Amino acid sequence: MPIYEFECEKCNHAFECFMKVGEDQGDLTCPECGAAHPKKIISRIQTSDFKRLGQRILKRMAKRQAGE
Ligand SMILES: [Zn+2]
Repeated sequence: MPIYEFECEKCNHAFECFMKVGEDQGDLTCPECGAAHPKKIISRIQTSDFKRLGQRILKRMAKRQAGE
């Protein structure tokens, strides 16, 4: 499950939040002041992104091997 880091634009409180894939963050609120729509400051590499990146590298390696 990816972890996202959010920062409240109202009180600048930063907090981490686990988000399920495809989950909407629209109803996320700041745990400090309750303000809605905190700003996402970091999106760590998600498993799906990592897999995609790995596949791309493998494809590139396969192409390179085939060309030789
Ligand atoms: Zn806040």
